[in-house]
Amino acid sequence: MGRATTEALVLRRTPFGETSQVAEFLTRDQGRLSLILKGVHRPRSRKGGGVDLLDHCVITWFSRRGSRSLAQLSERRVLSHHPVMRRRTDLMLAGESLVELLRALAPEGQRVTALFRLAVAFLDALDADPPPERLPPVLFALHGGILRITGFELVLDRCVSCDRRPEGNRVMRCDPERGGIVCRTCRTGQDHSFDLSTRAARAISSFRSADPRAAAELTIPPAIAHQMKRYYDRTLLHVLERPMRCHVLPRSA
Ligand SMILES: [Zn+2]
Repeated sequence: MGRATTEALVLRRTPFGETSQVAEFLTRDQGRLSLILKGVHRPRSRKGGGVDLLDHCVITWFSRRGSRSLAQLSERRVLSHHPVMRRRTDLMLAGESLVELLRALAPEGQRVTALFRLAVAFLDALDADPPPERLPPVLFALHGGILRITGFELVLDRCVSCDRRPEGNRVMRCDPERGGIVCRTCRTGQDHSFDLSTRAARAISSFRSADPRAAAELTIPPAIAHQMKRYYDRTLLHVLERPMRCHVLPRSA
């Protein structure tokens, strides 16, 4: 039996029996992990009740090698409950979109330090109460970072087929199924590509390593923001093989 302690975010919780809870966490050191919280709903539980979605905590559990039953959470300390985020529907929906992405893309059983840091920075950015018009860049920083960290980012500085680099302020075609931008010569008739200007492509590249908390300070021209939104929607559709269920921003055409 091994005792482990790490930082974690709560991704899901379900009641278990009358007094217990099963919670799925994104842990920094072990990726996604489900644990049982025994007796947390007992009236005089000393464990402080169940956990809340998206709580950022430090958790300790006992893992049993070879055991097929869920490991048991033994201690937890909440670092942030993100109270401001919980007061606004649009921010909470953005938080839920993070849960959707992490449950689909975060691995189990391995250290995910970069992904964990990005997720915490995103929640901190939401909890800083950004005005609604500053929400798009915060989401773009999350999407750009997740695509980079999970290895799904597209090639945007040259044609994926012939390596030719776009010149000037051209509008290119971007095709997630082919892995990035495709020049006019290499494009094959009917595909699922969409327009992407070189300016928008540069903005997307600069958001790959953006901190969501700093992104909230950025102003993006509407025409560029529109293209960025479509880029992330279409790329995530390709990666997840289905549309996102959480729509934080209006759907792109
Ligand atoms: Zn080409």
